[in-house]
Amino acid sequence: MAHCSAESEMEKSPWICHVCDFKSADTESQACDLCFRVTCELHLRPASVYNKDNGLYETARVCIVCGSSKS
Ligand SMILES: [Zn+2]
Ligand SMILES: [Zn+2]
Repeated sequence: MAHCSAESEMEKSPWICHVCDFKSADTESQACDLCFRVTCELHLRPASVYNKDNGLYETARVCIVCGSSKS
């Protein structure tokens, strides 16, 4: 029962934006800092997020879904 599955190429895996379903395998995937879902560059923007641990606002990368749901 020899099961050899050598995966030597694990550099960049394909990803898909959860907002617009944009797919890419050439660039690095980026994730929203709030929902941690993979988001493309178009739908990821810097935003100030309140850190309750230290009471400071920090710059995070937030997807437009999380950004628009914030009042
Ligand atoms: Zn997108
Ligand atoms: Zn998000």
